Amino acid sequence: MLNQPLRFLPVPGEPQVDQAPPEVRTSRRRLRACHECDWLVALPPLRPGQRADCPRCGHTLVTRHHRPAQRSMALALAAMVALLLAISFPFVSFSVGGFGNRIELTQTATTLIGFHQPLVAIAVILTIAVLPGLYLLGVIWLQLGLLQGQPLPASRTIARSLAHLNPWMMADVFIIGALVSLIKVAGLAQIELGLSFWAFCVFALLLLFTMQSIDSDWMWFSLAGEPQAPEGARTGTTAAAQGLTGCPTCGLVNRLDGNGRGHCRRCGEGLRARLPHSLQRTWALLATAALMYIPANVYPIMTTTSLGHSSPSTIIGGVVELIQMGSWPIAVVIFVASVIVPVGKLVALAWLCLVVKRSDELNAASRTWLYRITEFIGRWSMIDVFVVAILVALIRAGSLMSVTPGPAALAFGSVVVLTMLAAMTFDPRLIWDAPLPRDSRDTQGTPG
Ligand SMILES: [Zn+2]
Ligand SMILES: [Zn+2]
Repeated sequence: MLNQPLRFLPVPGEPQVDQAPPEVRTSRRRLRACHECDWLVALPPLRPGQRADCPRCGHTLVTRHHRPAQRSMALALAAMVALLLAISFPFVSFSVGGFGNRIELTQTATTLIGFHQPLVAIAVILTIAVLPGLYLLGVIWLQLGLLQGQPLPASRTIARSLAHLNPWMMADVFIIGALVSLIKVAGLAQIELGLSFWAFCVFALLLLFTMQSIDSDWMWFSLAGEPQAPEGARTGTTAAAQGLTGCPTCGLVNRLDGNGRGHCRRCGEGLRARLPHSLQRTWALLATAALMYIPANVYPIMTTTSLGHSSPSTIIGGVVELIQMGSWPIAVVIFVASVIVPVGKLVALAWLCLVVKRSDELNAASRTWLYRITEFIGRWSMIDVFVVAILVALIRAGSLMSVTPGPAALAFGSVVVLTMLAAMTFDPRLIWDAPLPRDSRDTQGTPG
């Protein structure tokens, strides 16, 4: 990189130009349309540590960090090192009656393949290691370019992909799954935590910090500048009412064509005023998830063999067993993650779809809150799938003690994925679109 032009290097004593926040580098009006309610706002100048929230629904539009590039780079590098440590050393070991087994992190996925559960195995390895690894490499690649003032090739494509990876990285959920599994077997066998277990905990924490450190407004500005705001755009009303829409990836406000379609001028993302067929897709995904929830509960999620005696257990059966063992807190965790969260999500999303345009069922802000909660908690249901993956890999002592996965593991995993997709296809902006009148009498009788 020695032949790079020096124009991006900072002049001593002056702030680094390429590190400065967008408002310092442009005098253009920076419009944003809230992703959750479509309100059009002009971003105020933000200092590091400040954030801009939507005045109508409270959704955070931009969070400005101190030295965003250095911060993300340092966190992503540290997280990458922790991930490499986590996959290179023993994760956890168990021993019972002289028999023992020691596993590495990746075996939580590979053992499942041996039991004809390749889809569950893929879901486990993708969510705990592969996707987070790709995400971190993407962040490092992007910030490396931004730090030297010259984006590296494919930076825009990577920046677009990063946003889509966020909900599918579940290292933190896996840790809770690991703790639940270890408590489940702690009374029956001796458990020893390996170096990789601690490295993975550090990795999960650093991954969360890295995700939070991404200032996508600053990043997109540094990658591709700020094109002129569409002519005649007015703040204080919705973008859709003016034929505009905010890009879901980079945030730029764009004008749509006569058919309500367009492409983002900054990042190239395809644009629509609202997610196409949002309600139909959400309903279809919810119906499939509800169907899959039946085999998820009817069939055993895993079978425990102890001293030659096999006992299959369903999700609810596992909770009852834990209560009988006296492990109340763990029973509550599993019950909440495997029953309350998925059922609650199904009911909440179905209700949101039903009342989406009615003004009399809670106000729009409360419904948006409900939507945010369902979106946030969805991934935590994976705990039970991770518990199965860990126990199946770890508890291998032949007829003395072993655990095999049941058909409910795949069914339940698909419920989690389907409800997460349902939350993604639901467009929260529909909640804020003009409500249908209660009935004709009300609209005549109520003034204003
Ligand atoms: Zn809003
Ligand atoms: Zn864009």
